[in-house]
Amino acid sequence: MRILISGASIAGPSLAYWLARQGTEVTLVERAAGRRLGGAPIDIRAEAVELTAKMGLLDAVEAVRGNTRGIVFVDADGAEAQTIPNTDDHDIELYRGELVRILTDATKDEVEYIYGDGVTALHDDGAGVDVEFARGAPRRFDLVFGADGLHSQVRRLTFGPEQEFLRHVGVYVAIFPCDPALGKPDWGLMRQTPGRLVGVYSFRGTGKAAFMFRAPRLDYDYRDIGRQKNLLRETFADHGWIVPQLLDGALDTEDFYFDSVSQVDLPSWSRGRIALIGDAAACPSPLTGMGTSAAMLGAAALAEALAEHTDHETAFAEYERKFRPRADEIQSMVSTGVEMLVPLRPVAT
Ligand SMILES: Cc1cc2nc3c(=O)[nH]c(=O)nc-3n(C[C@H](O)[C@H](O)[C@H](O)COP(=O)(O)OP(=O)(O)OC[C@H]3O[C@@H](n4cnc5c(N)ncnc54)[C@H](O)[C@@H]3O)c2cc1C
Repeated sequence: MRILISGASIAGPSLAYWLARQGTEVTLVERAAGRRLGGAPIDIRAEAVELTAKMGLLDAVEAVRGNTRGIVFVDADGAEAQTIPNTDDHDIELYRGELVRILTDATKDEVEYIYGDGVTALHDDGAGVDVEFARGAPRRFDLVFGADGLHSQVRRLTFGPEQEFLRHVGVYVAIFPCDPALGKPDWGLMRQTPGRLVGVYSFRGTGKAAFMFRAPRLDYDYRDIGRQKNLLRETFADHGWIVPQLLDGALDTEDFYFDSVSQVDLPSWSRGRIALIGDAAACPSPLTGMGTSAAMLGAAALAEALAEHTDHETAFAEYERKFRPRADEIQSMVSTGVEMLVPLRPVAT
């Protein structure tokens, strides 16, 4: 059985991990030129912690976990107004890039990784899938999985344009590195104004700034990073605190992430020999705090179904029957996240 997975972030290498252990020949193609090790702090939560242990990766994850002690809300002058200590030691917080590194390290000897390439055409003839790549020669696989995120190319080629499946939750997010000295070591600092949030995380000697703001769908070129940075400047002009310093830092960084916060809603996660996992299938959005966990859980559910059923159609149906209720539940957490992080009502500070 030869399998192609598109996307080497969380869902892709997680699925590769399980399939390689089942003796499947796995190729993973990633659009980026190398491992994408940037990103914000994320959490491995709920049953995904036990899943990480089952994968034998708990020690590796524990070794790089952050120990954020909680959130401190500040006012426009940076004075601490409210502290919410972190009382949960079950969840594991770590930088997203660290988890990508751990998952790809755990699979690199058994899985063929191809960086700097991507799928451009998929032809499923019922007996296999002929795949064309932007750079490499065409190849044939038994099954193809899209783990290529919110803006999945596999989903676009198989199910149609993303506008049909993306549900904008009315919030935009930007993440970029910042001087850790602007934060408070091992605490998240946050400043909220109605419909806007700026957060600074400082742990393990690195800093990350996160900006979120409510807005209806904006018309902007997703490749125009300069315009996105200007948009932040305009939106947060009167936000006070260290916003000018953070935005000055954003001007110099290549590691700048900006996107609409959206959920993915598809009536089915598979068609023929092609199926989707992670954000490509059912992105819950960062505002649920469960995207990483959902990506790992979905990958494990699909691998388990494939191990139990030799017929892929039965396996895909079983994957969806077992995992969709949990994916729906995770997606439903978004409204609480929006209200908590970017409330429209006046906030205490
Ligand atoms: C600010 C922020 C905070 C977050 N906080 C949390 C949190 O606290 N807890 C949590 O669980 N989750 C959190 N998340 C969400 C989490 O990062 C994602 O939901 C999760 O990583 C989903 O993984 P994925 O592998 O499905 O997709 P992605 O991580 O989006 O990965 C998709 C991969 O596919 C690649 N790719 C894209 N297109 C192609 C193509 N055409 N060909 C080949 N490769 C391609 C991309 O380069 C990428 O490597 C957060 C996200 C953000 C932005």
